[in-house]
Amino acid sequence: MIITKLSVSQRFNHLAQQTEMEWISSPPSGWEEISGLDENYTPIRTYQVCQVMEPNQNNWLRTNWIEKGDAQRIFVELKFTLRDCNSLPGVVGTCKETFNLYYQETDSEVGRNIRENQYVKIDTIAADESFTQGDLGERKMKLNTEVRIIGPLSRRGFYLAFQDVGACIALVSVKVYYKKCWSIIENLATFPDTVTGSEFSSLVEVEGMCVSDAEEEADNSPKMHCSAEGEWLVPIGKCICKAGFHQKGDACEPCGRGFYKSSSQDLQCSRCPAHSYNDREGSWRCDCEDGYYRALSDPPSVACTRPPSAPQNLVYNINQTTVSLEWSPPADTGGRNDVTYRIMCRRCSWEPEECVPCGGNVGYSPQQAGLVDTYVSVVDLLAHANYTFEVEAVNGVSDLSRTQRLFAAVSVATSQAAPSQVSEVIKERVQQRSIQLSWQEPELPNGVITEYEIKYYEKEQKDRIYSTVKSRSTSATVNNLKPSTAYVFQIRAFTAAGYGTFGPRVEVTTKEEASGTTATIVSSEQNPVIIIAVVAVAGTIILVFMVFGFIIGRRHCGYSKADQEGDEELYFQFKFPGTKTYIDPETYEDPNRAVHQFAKELDASCIKIERVIGAGEFGEVCSGRLKLPGKRDTSVAIKTLKVGYSEKQRRDFLCEASIMGQFDHPNVVHLEGVVTRGKPVMIVIEYMENGSLDAFLRKHDGQFTVIQLVGMLRGIAAGMRYLSDMGYVHRDLAARNILVNSNLVCKVSDFGLSRVIDDDPEAVYTTTGGKIPVRWTAMEAIQYRKFTSASDVWSYGIVMWEVMSYGERPYWDMSNQDVIKAIEEGYRLPAPMDCPPGLHQLMLDCWQKERADRPKFDQIVGILDKMIRNPNTLKTPVGTCTRPISPLLDQSTPDFAAFRSVGEWLDAIKMERYRDNFTAAGYSSLESVARMSIEDVMSLGITLVGHQKKIMSSIQTMRAQMLHLHGTGIQV
Ligand code: AMP
Repeated sequence: MIITKLSVSQRFNHLAQQTEMEWISSPPSGWEEISGLDENYTPIRTYQVCQVMEPNQNNWLRTNWIEKGDAQRIFVELKFTLRDCNSLPGVVGTCKETFNLYYQETDSEVGRNIRENQYVKIDTIAADESFTQGDLGERKMKLNTEVRIIGPLSRRGFYLAFQDVGACIALVSVKVYYKKCWSIIENLATFPDTVTGSEFSSLVEVEGMCVSDAEEEADNSPKMHCSAEGEWLVPIGKCICKAGFHQKGDACEPCGRGFYKSSSQDLQCSRCPAHSYNDREGSWRCDCEDGYYRALSDPPSVACTRPPSAPQNLVYNINQTTVSLEWSPPADTGGRNDVTYRIMCRRCSWEPEECVPCGGNVGYSPQQAGLVDTYVSVVDLLAHANYTFEVEAVNGVSDLSRTQRLFAAVSVATSQAAPSQVSEVIKERVQQRSIQLSWQEPELPNGVITEYEIKYYEKEQKDRIYSTVKSRSTSATVNNLKPSTAYVFQIRAFTAAGYGTFGPRVEVTTKEEASGTTATIVSSEQNPVIIIAVVAVAGTIILVFMVFGFIIGRRHCGYSKADQEGDEELYFQFKFPGTKTYIDPETYEDPNRAVHQFAKELDASCIKIERVIGAGEFGEVCSGRLKLPGKRDTSVAIKTLKVGYSEKQRRDFLCEASIMGQFDHPNVVHLEGVVTRGKPVMIVIEYMENGSLDAFLRKHDGQFTVIQLVGMLRGIAAGMRYLSDMGYVHRDLAARNILVNSNLVCKVSDFGLSRVIDDDPEAVYTTTGGKIPVRWTAMEAIQYRKFTSASDVWSYGIVMWEVMSYGERPYWDMSNQDVIKAIEEGYRLPAPMDCPPGLHQLMLDCWQKERADRPKFDQIVGILDKMIRNPNTLKTPVGTCTRPISPLLDQSTPDFAAFRSVGEWLDAIKMERYRDNFTAAGYSSLESVARMSIEDVMSLGITLVGHQKKIMSSIQTMRAQMLHLHGTGIQV
């Protein structure tokens, strides 16, 4: 586009103006300012000169000073008329038909003098058309127009000058102007007004400025060129509308609501993609609707998406310690096609809430996360462990989503598996004939390693004959090797699940020396208790060991179901349909599982052991504190399993927890939990401040009221009622197995079943082969191992007697054999001293020969409750709680008539050691003895309470017998 314009820097001459121009004319007789009319009859001012008659004319006319402004090239347009010399008579030789145009550059106005030499000639101007007729006043003039260019100019302004050398000229108009390129918007860039260059050929390069909301295209900034003619030429580069704006005409306008333009490169605004919106103008992107997201790599043009739903139809397959999972893709992929799967593996204790991530020991094939296919195998799991697997479908926006994870989950219990390889074998000692090796337990024992098998052979022997050594520890010495001989060893571990595979071959050469014999098997030096076996019998030994272990296990830990008759099992299961039924932990193949089913696994850090309070069968019993998160700390008793325990010991130890953990009753000792994952293994029980009942009563002999004692008995009976309702048979109910707390509340304890047989100091072998606490046990249980709740009732009767006699030993120091005989013959314990007859009657009822005749615990609780409500029934006149109440007593009561002396009597009750005491105090006759009070007995110097009681009990019986025989009253 060409734009030319008259310069307005000075609207200087238009000769059309009527006022004086006041240009300088030199000489003054030359150029004259004259008013006239133009072709339109408009009055104008002109400068004229016409000195055609005179020779040597030199008339100058100079304009006012013209400031040039930005211009470098100036255009001068002249309009004039010129008289044809031919039309003038008598001017030949002097008349001219041209004039000269000059200019002078100055920075400011100079004086009025015209110094010709300071002017630069622009051109000689001739008329294209000169006129002939008429005179200067003639209206029809032929107007000539000539344009000349000056420049480049360097000063601030200039003058123009017209030199006449003898022509007849009328200067009508002088127009001075320059050219520029006018401001323009091209390609969204604004180019400002630009003055053309100084040379005719030069182009002025101009940088464009992007219009608002537009930006330069990368490496392509907008440029144009302003030509000398004021034309914009050669556009280069461009601007483009920024993101969020689009081009409309020469401007950028914002995208409307619901539209976006993500980049300046895009031409148009686009509508928001699916599941996105925006409610403002000029957006470069749209926001996702709630629950929808855009992955970082998602361009704004794609729809917003959401996490996929859970995978479907998750199925699993267990092969020992490998679990294969397979599933179908999720029903909803969330609108994306980048769905992969990841697996979360958690190992759970048998308590469901205790699950921990599987950690790095578990392998995943092909991988744990980023699974493209819908299956995975999880390997190297632990055997016999509970796992939960969560399969989550994920896509590019899963990690952005704050909504709950959706996954498919399965709980899986791995089966038993053989141990993994024994790989790290160390040569401990190499000698001429022996090699001692040690090794690390396999990484995955998958059970309790009961032994290791060390297989070896002479390396150079052709028909490779293996020998085998077995060891229970992680070291062994192989003896009777040949000196200077290379042997190859391999070791494998054995658990209940069988042998693991042999580890890598380890070659060891014995030291030099003489020859040797075939290898036999020898124990480790560190651990002398190593099984020695030759390969041929190894299998048999293991088999025998396992079967034996099984039987022992059944016998030791869990008999309630096995030992009850079928009908009683039904009784327990159906009579109390609403009552929880006791589950024999031994029915669990995995004792650990039983423990965690019934006992809470405690964090060892919650337990503070304070002091040792006793010795249990498996280790020390301590007192301490238990602080569970969010709970007050409590006093606890902590039974520990001593170090170096065998697996069987561990199992038997925890068996008590598996049983105790099933009970929840105020009169049954409460299990807080177990620690099986740390060392030492612990059982944590509520703390019973006063320890076991028998010792407690002995310590406080005679210090309680009958009501207090009956209250204790009532508690024990209530605990036993609860246990029998659950179908649990205690088998070792005795005061030593009742614990007492600070409030004198008695609680049944001691559920370690093996203890009944093996470790109760009271238990003895009976002829039926079992080990039984004879004095507390019912006849049928002693005779043919018939343990039932009814036999527990018998034991309860004995406990009553223990309580009422403040911890006296039942049947004193009669031998077990004598006790069995006496019981068989109908002898029953007499009432202890000061025992209310009703209570002794209840004892005798508990000792009924026919077990069906014995009261049930429920009835016992009822009877004791009644007694407590009516304390009068518990009043006993001293010395009247006597045998006549129980005719059975008569059968085995020594016949005092048969005793001829005090010495004989003392012999009979095994108190002969006090014979001298009686003699010295003057008790020479049985009659005098029968009158003795407890104080009298004590005054003899008999300090042992048990002996005092035994003697007093016998004296009471003696007194009653004498009364019966002779009808004589004895004053006490
Ligand atoms: P036990 O292994 O049950 O025979 O326990 C050995 C001894 O530790 C008992 O005779 C008690 O003196 C003591 N004992 C056991 N359990 C507790 C308990 N829960 N509170 C206080 N002392 C206990």
